[in-house]
Amino acid sequence: MSNKSPPTWNHQLAARNLAELYLDRNSDLSATLAVCDDGRRFTYQAFWELADRLRCRLWHAGVRPGHRVAMQVDKSMETLGVFWACVRGGFVFLPLNTAYTASEVSYFLGDAEATAFIVSPQRLSEMLAVAESANCQIVLTLDDEGGGSLLETPPREAPPSPDLNWDDIAAILYTSGTTGRSKGAMLSHGNLASNALALVDLWRFTAEDRLLHALPVYHTHGLFTASNTVIFSGGQMLFRRKFSADDVMAQMAEATAMMGVPTFYTRLLQHEGLTQDATRHMRLFISGSAPLLAETHKAFFERTGHAVLERYGMTETSMNASNPYGGERRAGTVGFALPHIDIRVTDPSTGQQLNDREDGMIEIKGPNLFKGYWRNPQKTAEDLRADGYFITGDLGRFDADGYLVISGRAKDLIITGGFNVYPKEIEEILDAMAGVIESAVIGVTHSDFGEAVVAVVACDADIDEAATIAELRKQLAAFKVPKRIVSLRELPRNAMGKVQKAALRKNFGQIFYSLTPGVNAQEINQVHQGQE
Ligand code: AMP
Repeated sequence: MSNKSPPTWNHQLAARNLAELYLDRNSDLSATLAVCDDGRRFTYQAFWELADRLRCRLWHAGVRPGHRVAMQVDKSMETLGVFWACVRGGFVFLPLNTAYTASEVSYFLGDAEATAFIVSPQRLSEMLAVAESANCQIVLTLDDEGGGSLLETPPREAPPSPDLNWDDIAAILYTSGTTGRSKGAMLSHGNLASNALALVDLWRFTAEDRLLHALPVYHTHGLFTASNTVIFSGGQMLFRRKFSADDVMAQMAEATAMMGVPTFYTRLLQHEGLTQDATRHMRLFISGSAPLLAETHKAFFERTGHAVLERYGMTETSMNASNPYGGERRAGTVGFALPHIDIRVTDPSTGQQLNDREDGMIEIKGPNLFKGYWRNPQKTAEDLRADGYFITGDLGRFDADGYLVISGRAKDLIITGGFNVYPKEIEEILDAMAGVIESAVIGVTHSDFGEAVVAVVACDADIDEAATIAELRKQLAAFKVPKRIVSLRELPRNAMGKVQKAALRKNFGQIFYSLTPGVNAQEINQVHQGQE
């Protein structure tokens, strides 16, 4: 099934870029945009001025239109302000996960050839050397309460405003790559605007809304989906630096809507304050970034009377599909294509379109589609069909009523607590360790994280699990570090010599529920020693 789209999404807009759209959509700049957990409050006007101050600061430091501004800092309104400074200045925003280690950051700075890098003051000394080796000349600091060298210098004369249009790149968001190397997805002003405007309408956001925003802002979900939907509806954000069930429950009375990853919902379900009374006034709960288990959807409905609206998106495309606001929100599905977006399901090997209810590769086309991978035309070409559809790497089908069901990930991506983990990156580090013959990293079901990272290593003598995890912690962001490491004598392989990850998932899928790893490992060793 595919939706027919009109030729353009922006034919009625006078605005030519995101900055103009901000002003067009918010005639009352005295309205409150954000109430923060540190007690600060930002009007649309104050935030707009902050963005301009940051634009001037970056320009006077040497940043020019088209330059990349990398940032790895804790969440604050200034973080979002830097994105809007880039929007206003024609710079390219490059947010980095706060969990990335110095060696991971070094790759991003070098690959993107960042001109400026904004870091938290605590990591300045560690990151100065990283920036220097990546030839990134400008390093500024920003803490989560609006302090740091980025804001210290008083504003100087305003630099010229660039003439920007919808095709200009506003941000590069890095996605992890299956080969262990991340790719930078280039997102234009038009990509972000078309998506945000579609979501405002679809999810019926208005100036009356107050969105509970507890998501990180280095990822498309918190940075674009949540913030832009509010900004282009003239609503408010209850801006929380971190998610905690206690904090969210304490704020709930002030909110009208919440966006979260599935882990938020499983955590809220463990909170005794989550009741029908506490959520009666809410108009909308939205979930995305990873599959929301049907049982979580059901449990949330039973506790609160709210059917969580699940939607589907990705870094390269922003949002693609959503359950309906008005109609049935079907558990285990991500609903229908957004307006102006086409979704089709194809045979992964031939690219031929399949019939409804047949499982295949999900492909997307629309104004949301990114402008390609940064300096990687080959990878961009590989992921695009000749007729312009993007090959998502997600497998799925349309059910009998046209709801899109995601059935798996072609590329073995693991999503743990809303974060993407690509096995290859961890496998490469494990394989280089003494005593490890080879490794396979898989995602297994976990009640809290959705999926948890588990490593299975082939070795002659069992490796020390705790010591190996400790070693990995030094090299990898915490969310990528396996929660368990199982030792086997050899990995199961198919006739083509490929490691059978499906067999590993089958054997260790219940590791967090029925754990006797030693016994499991012995059993699987016996099973696979018996195989050819
Ligand atoms: P990211 O680029 O980090 O946003 O991750 C995108 C990937 O997350 C998609 O390609 C899907 O595999 C997955 N994803 C996002 N939303 C959902 C959802 N509602 N259900 C299942 N998987 C999802």
